[in-house]
Amino acid sequence: MKYFWKKAGCCTRCEKPLERAFMVREYVAWQALEAAGHVLCQTETVPVCETCTTPAEAAACIKSRICAGCGLEIHHGNFGGRGACSKRCTQRVLRARRQNSRATIPCAGCKKAFRPRRSDAEFCSSACRQSAYRRREDAAWAVKFAVTTAKLLAERSPR
Ligand SMILES: [Zn+2]
Ligand SMILES: [Zn+2]
Ligand SMILES: [Zn+2]
Repeated sequence: MKYFWKKAGCCTRCEKPLERAFMVREYVAWQALEAAGHVLCQTETVPVCETCTTPAEAAACIKSRICAGCGLEIHHGNFGGRGACSKRCTQRVLRARRQNSRATIPCAGCKKAFRPRRSDAEFCSSACRQSAYRRREDAAWAVKFAVTTAKLLAERSPR
């Protein structure tokens, strides 16, 4: 059975650089086992150029998007839609996403930098959130106390 080698940014069938990619199922070499003298192949969804696409394959590519990894225009069918043209681009997207989520912000309580698990997180820990809440309560109480004291003193003072 005929198989193809995957080449980054190129058509899997003719190996010419891609301008637009059509995602089709193709039998590709997965790993070369040179010593054993044979090549391991499997069917994968790979990018091919417009010229190499059969009419049936082109007709199946009913959707299009821009690869989030390399910016290539890709046309594809109704499959999972990972949004990338290749495994390499999928990995690039995942790596970028991981790096973004690694950004740290200063805790609103202890001021130490931390990695928020949620986008709206303000505190590094529940302890910090609770002590900040307590501080707010204390401040409110102090104001109330001052007002009451002033009122009592005013009532007591001789007119
Ligand atoms: Zn081609
Ligand atoms: Zn790509
Ligand atoms: Zn904190």
